[in-house]
Amino acid sequence: MDFGHLLLGLLALWLGGRAHSERQRRRKQATRHQEAREDLNALLKGKEAEVASIRQRLIDIFPRPFLSLDGKGKIVRVNHAARALVNNRPLIGRSLSSIFLSKELHEGLEKNPETTELSTFSATFHPGEVVSAFAGNQESHWKVDVLKTSLNGDPSEVQLMMLDVSRFVYTEQVRRDFVANASHELRTPLSIISGYLEILHEEDPENGYINTMLAHLGRINRIIDDMLLIARLESEKEAPLDREPFALRECVSKVVERLSPLIEKQNDQVQVLIPEDLTLAGDHFYWTQVFYNLIENALKQNAENQITISIEARKQEEGTIEIQVRDDGKGIPPNSLPYIFNRFYRVEKHHSQNKVRGTGLGLSIVKRAVEAHQGRISATSRPGIDTTFTILLPPQDAVEGK
Ligand code: ATP
Ligand code: MG
Repeated sequence: MDFGHLLLGLLALWLGGRAHSERQRRRKQATRHQEAREDLNALLKGKEAEVASIRQRLIDIFPRPFLSLDGKGKIVRVNHAARALVNNRPLIGRSLSSIFLSKELHEGLEKNPETTELSTFSATFHPGEVVSAFAGNQESHWKVDVLKTSLNGDPSEVQLMMLDVSRFVYTEQVRRDFVANASHELRTPLSIISGYLEILHEEDPENGYINTMLAHLGRINRIIDDMLLIARLESEKEAPLDREPFALRECVSKVVERLSPLIEKQNDQVQVLIPEDLTLAGDHFYWTQVFYNLIENALKQNAENQITISIEARKQEEGTIEIQVRDDGKGIPPNSLPYIFNRFYRVEKHHSQNKVRGTGLGLSIVKRAVEAHQGRISATSRPGIDTTFTILLPPQDAVEGK
């Protein structure tokens, strides 16, 4: 063997050794990676379980029933209150429709399947279907908030949170029935008393006692009329409003005419600035009450000052109708303004013995009547400068078509 062959042999031996140790090094590295991956997975699994347990504890704290649904409507997560709602029947893995029979609940969920904004709707459950803290053996009423958002990476997840509003619904109902029945029942005895007092008044017109009694009876009668009107507005579902088109200017002019004795007595000015062809699709009776109260308020509150009242109406470009009743009288102080639409609220609380003043029901009726026509009302006032009641109504062809 010559020297050249010896050198080549040594080189091959060295290269072979190197390749072997490289293979070994790679194998070791792969094992180390595998081990690290397994450690990480175990850690993540542990963390996931920890996160899931924290999430569960958090939703269990909510006092309101909470449920998560997957994209197919199956319940994947519930809190303690949701379990209590169905008397601890198993919920996980079942479809919502197999647990809750409420039609509104399913319609409400189907309505906005893609929106990621919070939507809220009402749902009613029959007795025995769900456990309500307030409903007892009656239907229970719920407000349901729905939000499409994921709590575990599944983008189709929907979160549902419920609020038991049965107590509120029932007290509202009792209050409504009370107002309707009490006003109805008071009518008959009062009209009998009125009749006898009228006879006494005719026999002795100057009698101060009888006159005071008559004035106050007039006041009670007005309160009762207002309460009956409120009851009628509140039962709008049972007795829907008339939606006959009528000329607005004519309606307002008639109200002004009815109030003309007071207007003349106080030497006030009234301007009706309404286009002749402007029609409203609504209940003429309620609109008469609305304008009567708004104009009468301005007159009544300014018995000592001469004022100008203007009633303006215009159709805006997109069809919305804006109506404004404005006066330049003493106005409403800023701290009272937020409350004037509340029932029985009056800026001046004291009741004079001689004068028959308002009861504070007028503006609450106005607001209800406007809202029953899908409108909105607001008020602004700069005492001594101008006080404006603004009514906005949706385009009237849309209302007519309802
Ligand atoms: P009712 O209308 O039941 O006879 P009322 O007129 O006192 O009684 P609302 O019509 O509800 O009740 O009005 C509530 C209160 O708002 C009034 O008592 C008055 O203090 C204030 N108010 C309403 N309109 C005006 C106005 N144009 N100028 C000054 N104050 C007003
Ligand atoms: Mg009034």
